[in-house]
Amino acid sequence: MNRFFDTKIDYLKGVGERTGNLLREELSIHTFGDLIQHYPFRHEDRSQFHKIADIHEEMPYVQVVGHIRKAEIIGNGPKKRLSAVFVDDTGEMELVWFKGIQWLSGKLKPQVDYVAFGKPSRFGQKFNMAHPEMELLASIDRENGQLFPVYHTTEKLKRGRIDSRTIARLQKRLLEKAYSHIPETLPEALADRYRLMAKPDAVKSIHFPESINYLEKATFRLKFEELFYVQLRLLKLKLARIDKFPGQVFGDTKLVHKFYESHLPFELTNAQKRVIKEIYADLHSGKQMNRLLQGDVGSGKTIVSFICMLIAISSGTQAALMAPTEILAEQHYRSLTPFANALGLEIALLTGSTRRKGRRIIDEMLQMGTLPILVGTHALLEDRVQFKNLGLSVVDEQHRFGVAQRAKLWNKNAGGRHSGKTYPHVLVMTATPIPRTLAMTLYGDLDVSVIDELPKGRKPIKTLHRFENNRLRVFGFLREQIQAGRQVYIVYPLIEESEKLDLKDLEDGYESIRRAFPDVPVSCVHGRMSGSDKDYEMHLFVQGKTKIMVATTVIEVGVDVPNATVMVVENADRFGLAQLHQLRGRVGRGAEQSYCILMTDYKLSKDSKVRLETLVRTTNGFEIAETDLKLRGPGNIEGTQQSGVLDLLVADLGKDGKILQEARLSAAEILQDDPELQLPQHQPIRMHIDKMRENTFNWSRIS
Ligand code: ADP
Ligand code: MG
Repeated sequence: MNRFFDTKIDYLKGVGERTGNLLREELSIHTFGDLIQHYPFRHEDRSQFHKIADIHEEMPYVQVVGHIRKAEIIGNGPKKRLSAVFVDDTGEMELVWFKGIQWLSGKLKPQVDYVAFGKPSRFGQKFNMAHPEMELLASIDRENGQLFPVYHTTEKLKRGRIDSRTIARLQKRLLEKAYSHIPETLPEALADRYRLMAKPDAVKSIHFPESINYLEKATFRLKFEELFYVQLRLLKLKLARIDKFPGQVFGDTKLVHKFYESHLPFELTNAQKRVIKEIYADLHSGKQMNRLLQGDVGSGKTIVSFICMLIAISSGTQAALMAPTEILAEQHYRSLTPFANALGLEIALLTGSTRRKGRRIIDEMLQMGTLPILVGTHALLEDRVQFKNLGLSVVDEQHRFGVAQRAKLWNKNAGGRHSGKTYPHVLVMTATPIPRTLAMTLYGDLDVSVIDELPKGRKPIKTLHRFENNRLRVFGFLREQIQAGRQVYIVYPLIEESEKLDLKDLEDGYESIRRAFPDVPVSCVHGRMSGSDKDYEMHLFVQGKTKIMVATTVIEVGVDVPNATVMVVENADRFGLAQLHQLRGRVGRGAEQSYCILMTDYKLSKDSKVRLETLVRTTNGFEIAETDLKLRGPGNIEGTQQSGVLDLLVADLGKDGKILQEARLSAAEILQDDPELQLPQHQPIRMHIDKMRENTFNWSRIS
């Protein structure tokens, strides 16, 4: 886009000071460009009219032609409303308004034909419509086809009489002037290959399509463009990094062989072996590695990361492992310590609760290079933590860390005396299965390895959905399991807004468990406890001294107690799919058959039912992630908010996976032929990037 689109919105005819201010404050619309990109979120099909007698409950929005026979203000206080009897030649219905009553009652005319547009609902034998839009039949302008754009507005805008219709009028006026200023932003070859609508037509048609077909074509074109530029940016970042950052070359694997020969506690799965090979290839490629390791809960990522650390350490560098919580960091530390000791390697734990003296020793050893392995929490990111030569950074459970934090881990050597300008290799591990489409965007600048196989001998977890009236039988089952020597988790939801109430749920639950299992030792852990109390209770359970763990979701990630075979989730409908899957992953870690029991009330929303059914049906994390993405949309998937890559205007990562794939492919091809985008046919891309760089900082990192 060019200067025209930088024009302040106030210069559009019909935008006075008041409107201008409201648009700025409420919708961040400052310029012509902002307004034209305020795309409608849906269109109403106004080609169809319904008769009152044909209306039924399942209809979404309908429009009916008729007249008002009687209108009166009835009721008092919050019940005060304007009620009108609306009639056509087949019957009558009620129209009601609770807001703007005075103004409307003065405006509505009797015995004149209106088009009423709204959502019908049944009220006894009759139908009514709340807050329908009313338009005089005679004044309806049909010249733009029958698809009316509907724009997002806010309460404040509506109170200022700026509704979707007002915005549509402004868009129309703007488009008349703007059309000829809209530049093409994609090269011709792409437009041809994917039969993309030209940019100016696409912009016009997304607001005022002549038909559904035009609307679809316009939407496709704009989605493609949007995803193309996201992918182009990510791929360019990746290329830039490969050029800029050489990696240390790790060719020596003596420690790995020593570990394999005498200390490896089990046979690695084929998937683990493959992934280690992929990582090893990176580590001696001479390029800095940035790799995402995806693997479902229990797939054995920890040991893989340890073996990779051994590769780094064999070549004389150091390795760090960062986890999102103290409990997890400690657990990693505990499980890696025997391995490290067996190989004669020092290992230390650094968290927020590490004492001053301990910290000093760690700091010194790190800088001396005598501490090859450091495990810890965010504390690792503090500036004072400096390595002599950090060769590999491993980040566990990535979705808890932002992209910026990932970047921070790079700089641990920058000031180091001996390190010069080498950056550590980075391995990011996540147990949250991320749908492919999302991974391509969130981690589009990373290479991806997947552990798609669980260790042998694991029995698939049996998942059951049970209602409240089965509670006694469920408790009976828990008793059997405990008698057989197993341990049990019982988890309660804890959602921030209603924290108090949930805590009460948990406390009541804890009491009823104590009553139902008077002779069984029970641990209880929740977010309101101090760190040390939490750890104390947790350790009792880990050591098998307590048999039942009543907890909130603090145990969600990573905790490993192979003897625990039952996970009971209370109010399971209040958890998200990904979270339930994570919770379920806490069991099924040993050789015994494990169970996950989802407890709910009878009353369940449609989405809750889908979630529960999905869990009962499958333990495949990727399938679950896909369902989750469809149910909730990408904005709610953990880790996406901070990333900023999801500020998409038109595309929807939940639905547009195919377009995304094509867009990524095209971007890759173009960069392959012309990495600097200098060919004449790529000028539209260059110009568009320049323009975007002026407007956002996202692009500024790319030269
Ligand atoms: P996650 O991928 O969820 O982090 P972990 O690394 O915690 O999984 O591994 C889960 C459990 O499986 C651990 O107890 C670990 O020792 C064990 N494990 C890992 N790999 C194997 C294997 N190849 N064979 C048997 N057990 C394994
Ligand atoms: Mg783990």
